Amino acid sequence: MFNITQCDECNGLIFPKQMQVQDKEIKPGKQMRYWNCPVCNHQHVIMIMDKTSRRLMQQNKKDNEKISGIHKQSTQLRKANQLTESKTQSFLNQIDTIQQRIDKRKKDIDQRSKKLLHEYQEALQ
Ligand SMILES: [Zn+2]
Repeated sequence: MFNITQCDECNGLIFPKQMQVQDKEIKPGKQMRYWNCPVCNHQHVIMIMDKTSRRLMQQNKKDNEKISGIHKQSTQLRKANQLTESKTQSFLNQIDTIQQRIDKRKKDIDQRSKKLLHEYQEALQ
């Protein structure tokens, strides 16, 4: 990722190297992931996580490892000239199923974060 981010508070341009993403506990079991603008020091919240979000993220990590494993396996078979058409199809189906699980969890994590962020902001007022 080489994206330059623009701070919506000061319009300053922030290069990836300058952006330090940090986590802090805002309530027992709840963490906020954020970065501070190096120009104006504004705190930008990326997301809020709780126990459930962290569990979902952990499951996604494992599923991503499974996908890499399938890629590795298919590469090895291809090198050994043993990657058949049906084997390829079976790998693709497996990856597709896993990817769908990952996408669903990502959505859940995102919705959860929005809800937690809303609660956090309400509590601040
Ligand atoms: Zn700024």
